[in-house]
Amino acid sequence: MQRLQSYLCDTWQDGQGEGRALVNPSTEAVVATTTTRGLDLGAAAHYARTVGGPALRALTFAERGSLLKAMARAIYEHREALLDLSRDNNGTTRGDGKFDIDGATGTLAAYARLGRDLGERTFLLDGEAEKLGSGARYVGQHVRMPRPGVAVHINAFNFPAWGTFEKIAVAFLAGVPVITKPATATAHLTWRMVQILVESGILPAGSLSLLCGSAGDLLDHLGPQDGVAFTGSADTGAVLRGHACVVERSTRINIEADSLNSAVLGPDVVPGTDLWHCAVRNIVKDITQKTGQKCTAVRRIMVPEAVADDLSSALAEELGRVQVGYPVDRSVGMGPVATAAQLRDVRAGIEALCEEADVVVGGTAPVQAAHTESGTGFFVAPTLLRARDAASATRLHELEVFGPCSTLMPYDGSVDAAGDLLAKGQGMLVSSVYADDRSWVGGLLPHAAAWNGRVVMASKKVADQVLPPGMVLPNQMHGGPGRAGGGEELGGLRGLEFYTNRTALQGDAGVLRKLL
Ligand code: NAP
Repeated sequence: MQRLQSYLCDTWQDGQGEGRALVNPSTEAVVATTTTRGLDLGAAAHYARTVGGPALRALTFAERGSLLKAMARAIYEHREALLDLSRDNNGTTRGDGKFDIDGATGTLAAYARLGRDLGERTFLLDGEAEKLGSGARYVGQHVRMPRPGVAVHINAFNFPAWGTFEKIAVAFLAGVPVITKPATATAHLTWRMVQILVESGILPAGSLSLLCGSAGDLLDHLGPQDGVAFTGSADTGAVLRGHACVVERSTRINIEADSLNSAVLGPDVVPGTDLWHCAVRNIVKDITQKTGQKCTAVRRIMVPEAVADDLSSALAEELGRVQVGYPVDRSVGMGPVATAAQLRDVRAGIEALCEEADVVVGGTAPVQAAHTESGTGFFVAPTLLRARDAASATRLHELEVFGPCSTLMPYDGSVDAAGDLLAKGQGMLVSSVYADDRSWVGGLLPHAAAWNGRVVMASKKVADQVLPPGMVLPNQMHGGPGRAGGGEELGGLRGLEFYTNRTALQGDAGVLRKLL
């Protein structure tokens, strides 16, 4: 069995005691153990800040871009073995594993290109110089300089590869060292990816540290130039937001949390059309991909009453075809949820939602899973519910069941009703809108934009090109208002804001031109 150590101060370090067991969610076999007990996390933060920070800041954007490209290549060379690790600790099908691992290398590569394009600079100019005096000599210019601190990345269990490296890509391009902390339950993949990078010898000293297990007292050691980028539940997010480092020492924090993402079908979407099939395809993908354990997965499906039965039947038919099991071969379309706790929470969540909804397909009964011994593994069926009265429901709009479960919400087809239902989610990462009627879409847009970080607008002419809403792109903002955490990640160079300080420089235009 593998022992996962942490990588701190450029050395592999083991915590004290047996620690927590990581299991294969299909077989329940223990695959590794890890603990951070007794590790000196203050020393780790100090080392990253004082060794990794200067090393990264000394590189130009082009050089940081080359580093990201080399990291993507090193990881890609081990892709097949990493896919197996993902399956055996995260329960992913091959497609789900690729979504996570290729998402990581793809984001590294995208930020590598941004670095290349920024060239020999080491910090960013923000806007143009502005004349401040009576002549042209005295000017003001905003700049964004890398923060001389450490970025602590705390990630959720569902994306041990992408979640880790989409954050690292942005921090490294900005010139900021990272201590990354994967969720303990699925840390095996992250640990191996960091090990690959350490063994490759391409990382500047101190630039990347890995904390494999609990965060311990790490946040106690953070100060005003440090940052915490957190992805996980709203409850943990609330705890971190109230931590003394944030409240008393102004450590920056970015939170990506729960989200009751929506799909909204407009009144003009007709069964059988390309747009209809696009909606069905995307919803089925969101329910089953990564066994519904995706922050961007659709949880609420708003459908005009007139076609609610048609959509219910179409989705039930597709979901009924999905083979659930240990994803050892390609016949398995959906693996288990990641942990025993997840299985418990998902089943309890479905039962709670059933106070306001009926089961169309799936539910909480044990699943006959392929390639496992009967009764073994954390399996749950793809589940579609139908709200009895979406407008008056409360739980359906509040409880994120983080598994393969989504709820149909019939409504009258009006903009106002769709807008009200969207607002009940209190802030989402992404919603998708399927409609051709431009005035209807225009009416919904202010509601959709107010409550979402991203809105996928699917219509007839782009139905064959629309990317699944669950797919987060490096050049587009990821995050959402309200209960989604209010955070922003990625979005190309927008992502660097979190890792840099904006300063207005006011002085002699000639001097500034020379320095900038
Ligand atoms: P979680 O229980 O909140 O844990 C997330 C991370 O926080 C883990 O690394 C966990 O470490 C750590 N953590 C827990 N308590 C902490 C504390 N007091 N101090 C410092 N770190 C702490 O969430 P999860 O169950 O892993 O993930 C599922 C949730 O994440 C879902 O609600 C989902 O919506 C959300 N999510 C959001 C996004 C997004 O981008 N918005 C993406 C993915 C997931 P341990 O594992 O060691 O406890």
